[in-house]
Amino acid sequence: MNDKPNKLITDDGLRLDGRRADEIRPMKIEIGVLSRADGSCYLEWGRNKILVGVFGPREAHPRRLQRADAAVIRYRYNMASFSVEDRARPGPSRRSIEISKVSREAFEPVIMAELYPKTAIDIFVEILQADAGTRTAAINASSIALADAGIPMKGLVTSCAFGKVDGQIVLDLNKEEDNYGEADFPVAMTQDGEITLLQMDGHLTPEEIKKGFELVKKGCKEILEIQQTVLRKKFETPVEEPEAEPEAKIVDTESEAAETEPSLEYAPEAAAVEETIEEAEELEAEPSEEVTETVPEAEELEEIVKEAEVEVVDGEAIEEAIEAETEEEAIEAETEEEAIEAEDESKGPWKVVKDPSESGSRGENDE
Ligand code: ADP
Repeated sequence: MNDKPNKLITDDGLRLDGRRADEIRPMKIEIGVLSRADGSCYLEWGRNKILVGVFGPREAHPRRLQRADAAVIRYRYNMASFSVEDRARPGPSRRSIEISKVSREAFEPVIMAELYPKTAIDIFVEILQADAGTRTAAINASSIALADAGIPMKGLVTSCAFGKVDGQIVLDLNKEEDNYGEADFPVAMTQDGEITLLQMDGHLTPEEIKKGFELVKKGCKEILEIQQTVLRKKFETPVEEPEAEPEAKIVDTESEAAETEPSLEYAPEAAAVEETIEEAEELEAEPSEEVTETVPEAEELEEIVKEAEVEVVDGEAIEEAIEAETEEEAIEAETEEEAIEAEDESKGPWKVVKDPSESGSRGENDE
């Protein structure tokens, strides 16, 4: 049964799956895959296949488990019997209980459980296919599922392991490296770099651990970017759609308003403006009409004056001529008065008052 390859790392520094020492396996994440869970995630990392469902916050049962000051976080790691080459024994094992405990503790610093007293937040992890690093993969998937469920968290948790293979420190061990390597060192951290899980299986020197931590930080940074990308994609897309619909509605409303409201709203104002303009035009027109009315009168008077002049030239009656002159003067005076009145009336659209006493207290045209 000893299938140990001669070399886990080739001379040119490549591992059996073609990765370099500081590279993680390809990761694929799907979010919201379970319709009955509050949040869910399906994650593939190398040959690992993991499904996570998050439920809650919901009333904690049995009640004796409730906490008066915070939500109870429950994490259940389960390996499907078909997930490994040799059939895994169904049900809880010492290993699955240990992984469930350390994984729950990895999330406790970030989940804001104090917001939901007497409730439970359940994280169910199903390992569908295992290929080493299932706990770290499950933590990465759980982080997404918790976010998908809308559980308030101070940040995402990312997890990655480093180990020692053929005397070299490498990142993210696969199954062969885990089985035949010298050490396995899983780590989980918050996006601020706070370590929330740290385990070690094997023997490592402090220098090797230091070197391994540098690799893990790099790996976790890459994983965080993947997680954030997936979450943005999930939560940005639906936000855009509802925004687009209201915009369309607003446009419709606006176009409708453009068709209907202005005619309703502005019609009375327009009518009032039109009335005002008409009134002004009428007032402007009135004086000119009066002036034109005055003109024929003046012409008549001029004719009378001419007739009188003719009579004077005849010289038949000096007295009559004098009277005619007097009349002429009177007529001229009248003509002048009327001309002045016509002039005054033509100045503007106001009421013409011939007798100042008629003007009242306002004294219009009383200059
Ligand atoms: P992790 O999966 O987090 O690395 P372990 O180091 O305990 O956890 O397990 C390493 C790998 O060993 C697992 O990913 C799985 O492929 C395999 N394994 C674990 N338990 C069993 C089991 N009961 N039967 C067969 N293979 C197992």
